[in-house]
Amino acid sequence: MEANGRDNSIIIIGAGFAGLSAGIYAQMNGYKTQIFEMHNKPGGLCTSWKRNGFIIDGCIHWLVGSAPGSAMNDYWKEVGIVQGREFVYSDEYMRYEGPEGRKIIFYSDVDRLEKELLDLSPKDREPILEFTNGIRFALNFDQPSSDTPFLKKIGNSIRVMYTFITNGKQFKKWGKTTPQEFTARLSDPMLKDAINELWLPDFSMLFMLFTFAYLHKKNAGYPLGGSMPMSRALEARYTALGGVINYDKKVEKILTENYKATGIRLSDGSEFHASRVVSAADGYNTIYKMLDDKYADARTHEPYEKWATFPSLIFAGFGVNRSFDDEPETVSGFSYQLEKPTVVADATINRLSVHIYNQDKSLAPVGKTVMTVMLPSDYTYWKKLSEDKDAYNRKKEEVGKQIQELLEQRFPGISSLVEMINIATPMTFERYTGNWKGSFEGWLITPMNANVMMKPMSQTLPGLNDFYMCGQWVEPGGGLPTGVMSGRKLMKKICKEDGRKFTTSYK
Ligand SMILES: Cc1cc2nc3c(=O)[nH]c(=O)nc-3n(C[C@H](O)[C@H](O)[C@H](O)COP(=O)(O)OP(=O)(O)OC[C@H]3O[C@@H](n4cnc5c(N)ncnc54)[C@H](O)[C@@H]3O)c2cc1C
Repeated sequence: MEANGRDNSIIIIGAGFAGLSAGIYAQMNGYKTQIFEMHNKPGGLCTSWKRNGFIIDGCIHWLVGSAPGSAMNDYWKEVGIVQGREFVYSDEYMRYEGPEGRKIIFYSDVDRLEKELLDLSPKDREPILEFTNGIRFALNFDQPSSDTPFLKKIGNSIRVMYTFITNGKQFKKWGKTTPQEFTARLSDPMLKDAINELWLPDFSMLFMLFTFAYLHKKNAGYPLGGSMPMSRALEARYTALGGVINYDKKVEKILTENYKATGIRLSDGSEFHASRVVSAADGYNTIYKMLDDKYADARTHEPYEKWATFPSLIFAGFGVNRSFDDEPETVSGFSYQLEKPTVVADATINRLSVHIYNQDKSLAPVGKTVMTVMLPSDYTYWKKLSEDKDAYNRKKEEVGKQIQELLEQRFPGISSLVEMINIATPMTFERYTGNWKGSFEGWLITPMNANVMMKPMSQTLPGLNDFYMCGQWVEPGGGLPTGVMSGRKLMKKICKEDGRKFTTSYK
């Protein structure tokens, strides 16, 4: 029993990366935890599914911190993700195929990228150099691993501090600039469109610069085997530390008494109690439904009323009887111009962005390959359609066939090689992970909320003790690294509350 009357029990809602990480760090620090997860497997959004012998990976493109030597890599070791895992570092982030045979290769290496862009559009030299130097600026900010020799660590801290002092304004400027604003300065229309398509048009440019910096350093690799083996590794680490996961258990309410969280009620009516409750589930459901909006002030509501989220998606998977060894391996795929604007479900598209998983043979039978297409699609459109199950299923089938026809424009004859089509919609994301409006990564960092990089969101709610949150809904920008860091940060906080020294370990 702690001095404040609590015992060391913690209930965690959700076995995504954040919930499992919170559980792992809690177990490492002597807490007794159990996770309640509504799905029958771990990982939340970090998942994959098998259809007709093909594995469709619903998440990982790159894992920041994949290479040894950075603090993030230490965290991955602590939670058991990187040990024994092989990473692929593709030379190309993305290919953009424009009209009249013109193309842009967005190389992972910043020097090659700079040359490619300058060769393409010499008249845009000034903004191009600003962009590539922005990437070089972002190279400075990797935190060193705990194994780094002391003097090297000090040297790194001084460099980071110096960069901040001398270039702090740059940090702020990129944080407040969207691709749309940046590309307004470019004169080459294709380059303009391509940079806007690289990311979401209202996302902060800072995020893009950091991603390219990690790619350049070969510290953001694709893990062979994809998402699910990583989620299973987290699950194994958690249970090996004594944690308990209860699958197929949907939490409906968080129980409170005298302004303290005391436990949870499941959808089957059963109740479980603990000294603390952590929600690593979707923020909207946690605050507005599980807690009936009783513990939220204007600051808590603000993001849900004003901030932009990562869009919801149509996520199409294709199993193709072809190796695609003749196509380049890329981190996030390539995009090509369609013959004419085409309406797919609720949106009109001019281009199709396709990811060929030719870098990971384990996802398909020998000689065959998985391809995926991600298209932003409105949640409410699919929500309405889903009220009529037949209409919803018909639309999914239609969308699959339509995308196959669009693939035909770039790969003539591909239709006869397609052995599997699988369409996930925003409703699929919602059903399997509970994420608000089917969003795939929580809050976007935009100029409106860019200050969260300096002043993070709170992991607690006003007026409710013994309750905490972690995961992508309290870490704008989302992603797997932030999920793990969020669980780690939370357990550090809880240890501090209890006067315990926060300790970690890895095998
Ligand atoms: C297509 C796609 C591509 C991506 N690419 C990358 C990438 O390349 N690199 C990267 O780092 N990140 C990527 N991400 C983002 C990353 O997957 C997420 O940001 C991260 O997995 C979020 O983790 P989380 O634990 O915060 O949330 P979630 O994964 O959403 O976990 C929440 C968990 O809570 C459970 N839950 C919800 N409600 C309840 C309830 N009422 N009761 C019980 N359980 C509940 C859910 O089932 C889920 O398991 C991608 C995501 C997608 C979808």
